[in-house]
Amino acid sequence: MTDTVNYPSNCPSGYTIYPETPFIINISETTPNGTIISFNLDIRSPVAEYSEGFVMFVGSTYVVPGNSFENASRISIPITITGNLPGPGRNGEIYLSFDFENDSPIDLTINLTYDPTVDFDIDIYDGDFRLIASGFSTEPTEIVSVYCSVPGKYYIVIYPFNVSKSNGSFIMTITYSPASFKRGESFRYAITIKGETTVGYLPGPSPFGSIFYKIKLSGGVEYTFHLTAGNDTDFDIFIYDSSGDEVAYSNEIGTNETVKYKPSSTGTFYIEIWRYKGSGEFVLTIPGYGKSSFIPMWIIYLIIAIIVVVSVLVLLLWLKGKKNTAKQILKVVLIVPLLILFLVSRGKKETASSTEETAAPTEIHKPRLCPYCKARLGKNQKICPKCGRRVG
Ligand SMILES: [Zn+2]
Repeated sequence: MTDTVNYPSNCPSGYTIYPETPFIINISETTPNGTIISFNLDIRSPVAEYSEGFVMFVGSTYVVPGNSFENASRISIPITITGNLPGPGRNGEIYLSFDFENDSPIDLTINLTYDPTVDFDIDIYDGDFRLIASGFSTEPTEIVSVYCSVPGKYYIVIYPFNVSKSNGSFIMTITYSPASFKRGESFRYAITIKGETTVGYLPGPSPFGSIFYKIKLSGGVEYTFHLTAGNDTDFDIFIYDSSGDEVAYSNEIGTNETVKYKPSSTGTFYIEIWRYKGSGEFVLTIPGYGKSSFIPMWIIYLIIAIIVVVSVLVLLLWLKGKKNTAKQILKVVLIVPLLILFLVSRGKKETASSTEETAAPTEIHKPRLCPYCKARLGKNQKICPKCGRRVG
């Protein structure tokens, strides 16, 4: 790397520069696109020292940021841009907008990387200023996936999580591809849980990186929901009723969560698996779920036992020449297991038919987060379970 420094020619005796005279520093270097170069500029004079850090993003566009939705800077996608916060918005945020004109829906992916000393977050809004996606991890990268189906204007707001710690640079890459239908992205497209064990992956397809499941629960029955995931992850679980109201949750620290819930009436419920930290596979276990809709094992054993005993009896009678008696026993006794099967299956059907199919809730709300550690908080939760601070 070479540099040429043109010092101001009229600096009077090294004390002050007056009138202000700019000086130019030329640095040249050949690097591939995508390289991030950081360097410090130190200025020293006999009486003062000044130091400033810079980060350069090679191969990206610098955008003059907007200070509001109305003044959002227009960009075109796909794009890689760089910028700095604090921006001109009221809380140090910046506003960008882009137009999506495709006829067919797209999956937009936004990758925001910033200085590890700061924490920047990102919100995506549609043309009616409705929030459609957010990225607010505590790691120095936000990856947001957005499904854009309606052509028109979209807005991106990049803001510092902590206003007092907002000085830093970012690089943002926006790419898109034809939309793929994503199950689990919302209440409406929730994945149906069918058995005791469900395996999934986070980050998920929802606007907040979570994933939604739906499940039919019987009134008056207490269910246990157990969530486990890999080391270095911290996933949480939130349960909603058919109208999207949160009814139970578990958001403790660590890789395990357990929550019990006993619905007062039978119906469709939703389960959201939330990512607080890390990524990877999780296992959701609901002991006994799904089995109740089948015939319990003990009944099957009983039926097998009856069949075996009757068969032996009939065989013995048959061998002794009492064919008619054997036939009579067969007729009467084999009705018993069929009767049991009939009664059990009738009981099952009653539970299922009392479940009413209701329209899925469509509202998407930005979830309540801990203002200190960004943990997803449960309804009416007063103390953050992750950082232990009072939150309301
Ligand atoms: Zn917290």
